Amino acid sequence: MYYFLLSARGRALEGQVNRREWLTNMGMGLAGVSAGRQAGGGATPAAPAQPAQPPGAGATLPLVEFEPRSMLHVEETAVDKPRFPVIDVHTHLSFSRQGGMRYAAPPEELLPVMDRRGVQTMVNLTGGTGEGLAETIARYDRAHPGRFITFTEPSWGRASEPGYAAFQGDQIGAAARAGARGLKVLKTLGLYLRDGGPSGPLVAVDDKRFDPMWEACGGHGLPVAIHIADPEAFFLPTDRFNERYEELANHPDWSFSAPGFPSFRALLEACDRVFARHPKTTFIALHVGHNAENLAVVSERLERFPNMSVELGARIGELGRQPRTARRFFERWQDRILFGTDAVPHGTQTPQQIFGDELYRIYYRFLQTEDEYFDYAPAPVPPQGRWRIYGLGLPDAILRKVYSENATRVLNVRA
Ligand SMILES: [Zn+2]
Repeated sequence: MYYFLLSARGRALEGQVNRREWLTNMGMGLAGVSAGRQAGGGATPAAPAQPAQPPGAGATLPLVEFEPRSMLHVEETAVDKPRFPVIDVHTHLSFSRQGGMRYAAPPEELLPVMDRRGVQTMVNLTGGTGEGLAETIARYDRAHPGRFITFTEPSWGRASEPGYAAFQGDQIGAAARAGARGLKVLKTLGLYLRDGGPSGPLVAVDDKRFDPMWEACGGHGLPVAIHIADPEAFFLPTDRFNERYEELANHPDWSFSAPGFPSFRALLEACDRVFARHPKTTFIALHVGHNAENLAVVSERLERFPNMSVELGARIGELGRQPRTARRFFERWQDRILFGTDAVPHGTQTPQQIFGDELYRIYYRFLQTEDEYFDYAPAPVPPQGRWRIYGLGLPDAILRKVYSENATRVLNVRA
């Protein structure tokens, strides 16, 4: 005898038993006999009609509508304050725009959140250049000493002009004199910046024209916060095998799988050549060295480049799904990891980066507790991939370094 089960797609699968039917029959002493189909019939009374299938059975659910709630009953620790004061080395408070700077939020709006969440200092990486930089420093750093630090940026718009190399080197000195404390390199370099217009060749990350800029940063004691590649999955086709499918489907312009972009590996190798060529310049490789998915490779790079540190921004989703590997990484590199969130006030596109109380609570919970399987971003659906994270439960000695001591040293600021 054999049994039939209608699958979700309505196909009859031979040889399988409907579990609900089987358990119902067990309860009636009819184990192994499908209701109404018993061989021979005769003495056994007919089984009652089967209960209805649960709602939705037989239907498919679009992925975007799937919002499963964990049924785990495990520890949930609310961490409102960090165990030690925090320097957030990766935030975006201002943006250069044609015609002047745009500010994401005034200090008066940021400071109460910082005070509530134990954030001593925010480092605003996108401080712009020239007058815009001076204005940003006046509004934030000078108006609230010790609470804000501003980085400058390269003048990409002039990168194809003759004399750029020397000009850019000089600009770093001018920015340092204006009060900038570092240089931020966005992924403009490596993925977007082209010579001779939009169809011209991409400018390589290790192009020699930037050598005076890297050297000047070393000379003026300005660390370089560098971000030249995105998660590995962004370099693969946006298809059913891509673990960040929904994120890429929501932001098609984040994909670099099309022809014409360098490979992930080529970008990292070019970055490594820059680190090797400028050993007196300190580099903060943002987003866990661009490769939080592969901590073995990041470790190897940290070993090769004593002038390299890493930062955590927007990557606790990666670190927290490999908590044992991540914990070993923190133990080994506890002097080279800087706390950062990539926070943007009023950001809406990326829930994992929206500046606010919740963002910091999640980071502290991740670093300080051993809580299990919780959201890495304040969002109904995990925005960077459908998984949850596990806390690292780091000891005080490591927390103190990661929260501020390493940043104090790398940024050359007094605690
Ligand atoms: Zn950023």
